[in-house]
Amino acid sequence: MAQCVFCRIASHGIPAAMVLETEQAVSFLDINPVNPGHALVVPRRHASSLLELTDEELHTLITMARRVAAAACGATGSRAFNILQNDGEAAGQVVPHAHLHVIPRSPKDGFSFGWRQLPYGEGELAALQQAVRQRL
Ligand code: 5GP
Ligand code: ZN
Repeated sequence: MAQCVFCRIASHGIPAAMVLETEQAVSFLDINPVNPGHALVVPRRHASSLLELTDEELHTLITMARRVAAAACGATGSRAFNILQNDGEAAGQVVPHAHLHVIPRSPKDGFSFGWRQLPYGEGELAALQQAVRQRL
């Protein structure tokens, strides 16, 4: 995908604040960080969804994310972090090249997920348990 912004960053076609590069993946600082040190971990091979990555590629990504998280926390004095992934437009994915977000956190950084959590209706939990199990 020639026009994909993360493919272009990974191949040094456009600049980014690169922090780590390996044969399979790259990590660079997000241009609009949630917090300072917010980094992205991106496979070199273009794939829009985590579902398209091999187990090995996914292992590479999460291993790199953990490494970058430790470094970004060290650099910012953070003792907490989130690793996040938005997969698909409805999930908030804007750049259609699979990536992990690594976000250093501090107790009063003002960032909130705003999650709402809802109870299941009668029988729904068991039905979904079955439906998911049948697909694994
Ligand atoms: P998504 O919503 O797709 O999970 O997140 C995409 C992220 O990529 C956003 O946080 C956005 O700030 C970041 N981003 C988009 N374009 C660029 C870019 O050209 N350079 C860098 N460093 N980050 C980018
Ligand atoms: Zn791409």
